[in-house]
Amino acid sequence: QCAYLCPVGAIYETPTWKKLIKMLENKNGKVFIAQTAPSVRVAIGEEFGMEPGTVSTGKMVAALRKLGFDYVFDTNFGADLTIMEEAHELIGRLKNGGTLPMFTSCCPGWVNMVEKEFPEFIPNLSTTKSPMQIMSSTREYFAKKINVKPEDIVMVAVMPCTAKKDEIERAQHVVDGIKVTDYVITTREFAKMLKFKNIPFVNLPEEKHDSPLGASSGAGAIFGVTGGVMEAALRTAYEKLTGEKLPRLVFNEVRGLEGIREAEVDFKTRKVRVAIVNGTGNAKKLLKEIKEGKKHYDFVEVMACLGGCIGGGGQPKSLDPDIVKKRAKAIYSIDEMSVIRRSHENPEIIQLYEEFVGEPNGHIAHHYLHTHYTNRTKEERKKQKSKTAD
Ligand code: SF4
Repeated sequence: QCAYLCPVGAIYETPTWKKLIKMLENKNGKVFIAQTAPSVRVAIGEEFGMEPGTVSTGKMVAALRKLGFDYVFDTNFGADLTIMEEAHELIGRLKNGGTLPMFTSCCPGWVNMVEKEFPEFIPNLSTTKSPMQIMSSTREYFAKKINVKPEDIVMVAVMPCTAKKDEIERAQHVVDGIKVTDYVITTREFAKMLKFKNIPFVNLPEEKHDSPLGASSGAGAIFGVTGGVMEAALRTAYEKLTGEKLPRLVFNEVRGLEGIREAEVDFKTRKVRVAIVNGTGNAKKLLKEIKEGKKHYDFVEVMACLGGCIGGGGQPKSLDPDIVKKRAKAIYSIDEMSVIRRSHENPEIIQLYEEFVGEPNGHIAHHYLHTHYTNRTKEERKKQKSKTAD
């Protein structure tokens, strides 16, 4: 498993945290915003001797404020927004004969793999940005709310992942001349910052994320575990496509830690065939089977790390053989305790569409919330190089 390194070898942990400590000590008129990935809250406590599987959402938010962040938003909100766009994209492809299966695109390890090794599958990738990048793409909306220039915001993402450091450098993610996320720190780097500043994590009070970009549903929470993106998308896609309430919220058939899982979900007018994959080896195996025509799906979720982001390369190191299971249990407990469990029912998501985005998959959504991919195989890069030389 990719416990400590980026699964695709995209990038190693760099000491961003030291630079950030200095910046937060002298803000130079900038507004500092942090966002917290779903899987960070179920792992950060381990760095401070807390039981694996402890949910530390409130302490995590308090700790970021103690470090000097002006606002703390939730990547779980970003996950809800990703679901709104991705579920509508899936519905569009199902109805209009678009490219299927549609692949999730929230894992940069997986996206890099498709671009570098399997470019024939680029049209299958959802164009919806990952929760981190979609969250940061609300920069302009929030800047207006607090009356500052978008470029005077410093957007920092706390992630389980070293590949996320690479994702923020993608040229396609520059919106209106501004890089949407300025810095990524991993869960381990976040812990280093707190230790350096002597912030007593365990004794911190429970604080809440800021509003209006901090409320999230249980569907957003489960993004941190393999199968979570699929389950969250099914909850919204079913209701939006059929116009009826989903008879059940939990899709046990997409849960679990096996490398490849398959299910067929009844969407009334048609059956939707789905697959959930974790681990790059399993992803390659599935792509081969799809290519050979042995497998047929409508929607496939792929996460490069075993277990999904809870097992990400930037998470605390652990010798506990059940660590992924314990973190997964904690993630599902957040969903169970949530009052709102469907992304499209999150009131702050509804507010964002009313005040800023308009329609899912609409013109504004495409400008801020979607992206595109490029063929980055060795052959293609050679071709491009020789064209430039000509
Ligand atoms: Fe990063 Fe999560 Fe993908 Fe692992 S599964 S590479 S932690 S986004």
